[in-house]
Amino acid sequence: MCGVVGIYAPGRDVARLAYFALYALQHRGQESAGIAVSDGQKIVSHVEMGLLGAIFDEEILSRLRGYLAVGHTRYSTTGSSVVVNAQPLLEQSTIGEFVFAHNGNLTNHESLAETLSPDLVLVATSDSEVFSKKIVDSDAATMEDRLAAVMQQAEGAYSCVVGTERELYGFRDPWGVRPLCLGQFEGGGYVIASESCAVATVGAKYLREIEPGEIVRIDEDGLHSRKIVREEPPALCMFEYIYFARPDSKLNGRSIYMARYEMGKQLAREHPADADVVMAVPDSAIPGGIGFATESGLPYVEGLIKNRYIGRTFISPDQAMRSQGVALKFNPILENLEGQRVVVVDDSIVRGTTTPRIVRLLRDVGAREVHVRVTSPPIVNPCYLGVDMATHDELIAANLSIDEIRRKIGADSLGYLSLEGLVKSTGRPQNEFCLGCLNGAYPRIPALAEPIAVR
Ligand code: SF4
Repeated sequence: MCGVVGIYAPGRDVARLAYFALYALQHRGQESAGIAVSDGQKIVSHVEMGLLGAIFDEEILSRLRGYLAVGHTRYSTTGSSVVVNAQPLLEQSTIGEFVFAHNGNLTNHESLAETLSPDLVLVATSDSEVFSKKIVDSDAATMEDRLAAVMQQAEGAYSCVVGTERELYGFRDPWGVRPLCLGQFEGGGYVIASESCAVATVGAKYLREIEPGEIVRIDEDGLHSRKIVREEPPALCMFEYIYFARPDSKLNGRSIYMARYEMGKQLAREHPADADVVMAVPDSAIPGGIGFATESGLPYVEGLIKNRYIGRTFISPDQAMRSQGVALKFNPILENLEGQRVVVVDDSIVRGTTTPRIVRLLRDVGAREVHVRVTSPPIVNPCYLGVDMATHDELIAANLSIDEIRRKIGADSLGYLSLEGLVKSTGRPQNEFCLGCLNGAYPRIPALAEPIAVR
């Protein structure tokens, strides 16, 4: 995934604002983080591996002085989890230096890399570097024209922020796969961020989404917008609604919290359970769990307390870390579970490594029955657009029937939300979404139009 942020706010401490905005986006990536700041003359950058709080301190932030900042927090899908891939990437070009921060995944980065001038050496291993080197390689006279030119060639998911010495840019791929929004500070200045929760965190007012295929430029004359010519059908990642986005964010005007709450209510209508209590796997399934309890008339209880200082299991870069993470992550509340028939609501089952551990944990503390309910349909296809679900083999629902999954996770019953129910809960039309991993309806991106095994 990744979180990106851009701040243009003369007279304010932009490094600190970027830091707090990134804090609000830490759930989108926990492997590395960085902030770059320009004072109009020079860009100064600090990038390291690890969580934001461990990377930045007062001394580092006070060295980042200027009126324009770009920040990034990373979760890797293309390119390994090493510091050379950490962002923002700092580049030198014939029109000056710039920094580049990317959320998404380019589906044509290999062929794009082949078109680079031979003197441009790729030092990182990520698709993001290919995009930034294409900007360097362009011979257009302005940064805006360079971005427009690269956007005409790039395919896949890219919600990006670029900072030059004096200008801040935000732009989004023509399909709008990953979110990107715009906010304004009272008294002047703007913020661009992956999610609206980051805009609120820094005290700015949410203005709007940056449109698919739009470039926004912010400079001393204010805000400018340009739509690149290419129009594509929209394809926002449905997993932003299901899992990724923070519940206090809004997407396309819809509260993520309320969408998840509706998913839980709809799930209770589709798969009611004969049970005593409803609980949710914290944190992202909590609105869905409350919705399920409300609709079914059962009490909602806290069954598991999450250690919030351990990263998200799904987001860790390898299987060993994922497995270890679950054991450290949840502690059960025995008093709410002992002797009860429990409905446990989760937002998704990807690989099927976390759910059996949770079911066992609940049984170990005396839950009499465990009924698993999932606020998404089964994930049957890989993601090629920046989410770490790379092959059919690793996806449990691509390989087992629902009853086989139920037995494998050790649940008394298992129910998934229907695709229709999911779409209805978002309040948006189905044709606005990428649903590739759920039903094979990927965006119309050339690399994804080739026959790929869809189940
Ligand atoms: S395939 Fe799934 S996870 Fe990937 S962008 Fe589409 S909806 Fe999101």
